[in-house]
Amino acid sequence: MPEVGPEDFSAILAHVREFVRTKVVPREQEIMEADAIPDDLRKQAAEMGLFGYAIPQQWGGLGLDLTQDVELAMEFGYTSLSLRSMFGTNNGIAGQVLVNFGTDEQKSQWLERIASGEVVASFALTEPGAGSNPAGLRTKAVRDGDDWVIDGQKRFITNAPIADLFIVFARTRPADESGPGIAVFLVPADTPGLEVGVKDKKMGQEGAWTADVVFSGVRVPASALVGGSEDVGYKAAMTSLARGRVHIAALAVGSAQRALDESVSYAASATQGGHPIGEFQLVQAMIADQQTGVMAGRALVREAAARYVSGEDRRIGPSAAKLFCTEMVGKVADLAVQVHGGTGYMREVPVERIYRDVRLLRLYEGTSEIQRLIIGGGLIREAGKRK
Ligand SMILES: Cc1cc2nc3c(=O)[nH]c(=O)nc-3n(C[C@H](O)[C@H](O)[C@H](O)COP(=O)(O)OP(=O)(O)OC[C@H]3O[C@@H](n4cnc5c(N)ncnc54)[C@H](O)[C@@H]3O)c2cc1C
Repeated sequence: MPEVGPEDFSAILAHVREFVRTKVVPREQEIMEADAIPDDLRKQAAEMGLFGYAIPQQWGGLGLDLTQDVELAMEFGYTSLSLRSMFGTNNGIAGQVLVNFGTDEQKSQWLERIASGEVVASFALTEPGAGSNPAGLRTKAVRDGDDWVIDGQKRFITNAPIADLFIVFARTRPADESGPGIAVFLVPADTPGLEVGVKDKKMGQEGAWTADVVFSGVRVPASALVGGSEDVGYKAAMTSLARGRVHIAALAVGSAQRALDESVSYAASATQGGHPIGEFQLVQAMIADQQTGVMAGRALVREAAARYVSGEDRRIGPSAAKLFCTEMVGKVADLAVQVHGGTGYMREVPVERIYRDVRLLRLYEGTSEIQRLIIGGGLIREAGKRK
């Protein structure tokens, strides 16, 4: 049973929709130009509980399950994706590691502050040469008395420049038959030896920052080892990422809906030769393809989330939803630029930003190629087991 019943959830969803559409949408240009989410919007998001909507109520969150999370994500997708990024790591890839694998002591030390937004948590898995294949990561954690000493380098870490806490995946031994040898540690950002690089210059999602994080002899106590076990790291990463994939798919559907709405309203008003361009059947065809993609994506997201929550499918469904919806929004955004003609190539126009913002969705939390490998490989392995 979800912690929040249908009536309360409807109120939360309506409030989020109103916040996104009346408070954030009008400030998209400002966010893009400043490359930052304004402080007042951050404050409102924190007051609404958005830093902890997916954190259980016991730890100060709203306690939404994934079927509810995706409904919010479809609303967040309607505006600059950097808004969602501001609290996405707290609820998602970083927060879920603590929720599902942390000890009670670790949860009480961190989760309430994560849920309130007082602490920003970053998920530090990717390294140069270990992105699609995180099992190949080289960051090392070596036991020294009661402590662990971490050395290595992470890259493209979302929220690193503003993080208070890093959830750091590091190798404690070489991979062997017993597992990949990857543990996960809670490392406060002010720990000596931890250095965050300059923020990356990205294609889109202005207002969301990423950077390298370098660990040089970073010493943390034994209590920083998540779950108190060296063996949970890889499983924690894969579990958090699978859940995150359904969320990213929902975000893609929200962005596609926005691109579609922008296209319809442009096509209904812009004219050529005295006719609204929406009267041209080839323009209608583009809009029809957008609408069909949005509807298919929304249905797939809802089904994948329900099957994730019931425990029926936590692997193939999330990957199928992420693959389909992130590819779909790529096409829908491209069509949106096409519907707008030359106007769609101009910086002040929402579909230009959407086109750049959504490109990332096919890359992070597993590229489209990796999703195909998970889906195809998973189905073939299941068939092999049945033989
Ligand atoms: C803006 C941004 C934010 C990010 N935030 C985070 C974060 O917060 N935390 C974090 O840990 N990481 C983060 N990442 C990293 C992201 O998850 C990786 O970039 C992504 O997983 C791809 O890894 P890579 O960049 O090393 O590319 P590669 O793995 O080198 O991929 C390059 C190409 O090779 C293909 N490829 C790779 N392996 C295979 C294979 N086995 N079979 C077929 N094709 C393959 C890929 O699909 C891709 O097309 C972020 C990245 C970006 C750009």
